[in-house]
Amino acid sequence: MTFTTRFAPSPTGHLHLGHAFSAWTAFTAAREAHGRFLLRLEDIDTVRCKPEFVDAILEDLAWLGLEWEEPVRRQSEHFDQYETVLQRLRGLGVVYRCFKTRKEIMEDIARAPHGVGDVYRGPAEPMSPDEETERLAAGDAYAWRLSLDRCRDRLGDRFDAMRFEEEGKGEIRADPAPLGDAILARKDVGTSYHIAVVHDDALQDITHIVRGRDLYELTPLHVLLQTLLNLPTPVYRHHRLLTDAHGERFAKRNKAATLRAMREAGLTPGQVRARFDMTEV
Ligand code: GLU
Repeated sequence: MTFTTRFAPSPTGHLHLGHAFSAWTAFTAAREAHGRFLLRLEDIDTVRCKPEFVDAILEDLAWLGLEWEEPVRRQSEHFDQYETVLQRLRGLGVVYRCFKTRKEIMEDIARAPHGVGDVYRGPAEPMSPDEETERLAAGDAYAWRLSLDRCRDRLGDRFDAMRFEEEGKGEIRADPAPLGDAILARKDVGTSYHIAVVHDDALQDITHIVRGRDLYELTPLHVLLQTLLNLPTPVYRHHRLLTDAHGERFAKRNKAATLRAMREAGLTPGQVRARFDMTEV
């Protein structure tokens, strides 16, 4: 398979130096492997994502020196596909409707014998079909959660055998337990980052996922979804995160670190790229 990677920004703001580093790392990885580089817009959050940021992202990345294959996939045009994935997971019996409010979830976590942080490990007892019917009829809000217990039952030995290759580190066991029963969709939004990213990576034949270390902890959940859906698990490379002079990660609200601001301040693309090496690990 041809080495294929992608940069997958969410157009909720202007790209900053951290995004530029991530995009450049993926782009150069593809170039060095004589492979393919794709750009994907992860814009399922239709409230926070804005068309002006889409235009700005395309413009800023081209200015930085990136080239990508057309067409650029936009997740907001494919909600029907993600809905189908959710249906498949429902068919496998591994997701359930959770009507609990955030407060109720926090109370459940506090009561759990081995509660850690704000990880929700599911209800003590599944909701009865009658109660579920009633809550649905009442129009109550809910989230679709992935039940780790049911995944374990469904996959048997395959659950404990889940692995992924982290480039440079070798095989890593994919243990989704620390994430608990993750939210995969909501009543009004039939998808999530997890469903969309796993579906799209497979659809676009992504062989290598090059992304920030901040997403490392989510990888076992993605490997679990790949296993449930019989999709290939790509090789992962989670790169270091750039930090500013105060040791803080770049954030979209930090205007000075946006590519736009640096460009307007007269920096060249080469000078921006030189900053990737100047910042602390
Ligand atoms: N859309 C995600 C973000 O902007 C990146 C997803 C990924 O690379 O897997 O953080």
